[in-house]
Amino acid sequence: MHSTKSPIVFQDETIFKEGEGGESAFIIHFGRVLLFLGEDDSEIPIKIIGPGEVFSEMSLIDRGPRSVSARAVGRVELIEVTKTQLESDVASGKPIGRLLAQVLLEKMRTQHNFSKVKSYGTEPAIEALVEQKKAALERMELEVRIANGLDQGEFFPFYQPIYDLSSGHLVGCEALLRWKTRDKGIVPPAAFIEVMEGSSLILTAGRVVIEKSLKDLHDMIKKFSGVADFFVSINIAGQQFTDPRFLEHLDTSRDQYSIPTHQVKLEITERVMTECLQGLSMLHQCRGSGYQLAIDDFGTGFSSLQYLANMPLTDLKIDRSFVMSMLRDPKSLSIVKSLISMASNLGLSLTAEGIEVIEEFNILKDLNVQMGQGYLFSKPRPIEEFLELAPQL
Ligand code: C2E
Ligand code: CA
Ligand code: CA
Repeated sequence: MHSTKSPIVFQDETIFKEGEGGESAFIIHFGRVLLFLGEDDSEIPIKIIGPGEVFSEMSLIDRGPRSVSARAVGRVELIEVTKTQLESDVASGKPIGRLLAQVLLEKMRTQHNFSKVKSYGTEPAIEALVEQKKAALERMELEVRIANGLDQGEFFPFYQPIYDLSSGHLVGCEALLRWKTRDKGIVPPAAFIEVMEGSSLILTAGRVVIEKSLKDLHDMIKKFSGVADFFVSINIAGQQFTDPRFLEHLDTSRDQYSIPTHQVKLEITERVMTECLQGLSMLHQCRGSGYQLAIDDFGTGFSSLQYLANMPLTDLKIDRSFVMSMLRDPKSLSIVKSLISMASNLGLSLTAEGIEVIEEFNILKDLNVQMGQGYLFSKPRPIEEFLELAPQL
């Protein structure tokens, strides 16, 4: 599909209403669109979609009325693709492309008709469908609340201090996202990160974390001026690495506070790196610019020496599950020891997370693990409270 027209702009307006006729689909060029059913008080949100996503594509195939309503969330730029355009694109395409497009259109038509028939199934099937719909609706409602929370500035990071285990000096911190809601207070990521990562909301949230934590890092560097190379560690989701503007945004936010790249550490999980080739190229670009790169939750994924050797890493974080069980389980302790020698052989810095008791701290220190974080030292805290920490344990 292509369009030569310039984008149409909407500002919190209704784009179309359920039941209206229409023969065009839309591609979101900029901004977000809410798809919903019903009207006014009985409005049911279905989904929020963002840049690059297409909606109302069925209008290109059938002449039926719009099955949902669509409204711009803030400023939205849309590229309209009409049925005539699509038909002329298909007709003028090369034979193989034309054949493929026709097969796909035919499949969509059949699926569309099938889904209409399917809803008249037997009762258990309908019950299962109702359950699925309920779960999907709850998830979408959460998605809408998260999107609104992001617009209202309700998301920001807390910071957990990271210490040099042998000297006890504060050396940096990890930024951990929190949601401050009016009714539930401070909500941890377990309640929202999965929904964010399943949609484009993680891109907005990722930007919020980057901007706020670099701003706060500027204050931390001033406050802990005796600490050389004080760093902030930021969790980066796979989707962020596939965003071509990721590095540009990171650089711009950092430049704004004159922070050198080596004082910013990007934390990624093994899964992100093994599943995404685009991520690997972004990883090289980031390292090329001087950012530090840590593998997070190390030991829980498909760690292999080969991929570790191919990646431009600087740090490795031992997962909390090993630290938690190493005191009572000799096997966990052996794993911790082998992770330590692996990191040392690869020339990587090592951080242990989830240190809760003094015995864990002592063992890790004796094993020469360089850095550590955990409730024993401090829970993640808001920036004002972080700045009150002593620079030494
Ligand atoms: P993570 O990156 O492994 O972060 C460490 C988690 O362990 C944090 O949970 C931290 O509060 C918790 N923790 C630290 N020390 C201790 C301890 O001594 N005992 C125990 N029981 N827990 C400890 P949190 O803040 O709830 O974050 C959970 C996860 O959410 C993070 O795990 C990370 O995967 C994700 N997350 C947090 N912030 C972001 C973000 O800005 N972006 C992305 N993509 N993911 C994030
Ligand atoms: Ca982390
Ligand atoms: Ca971790």
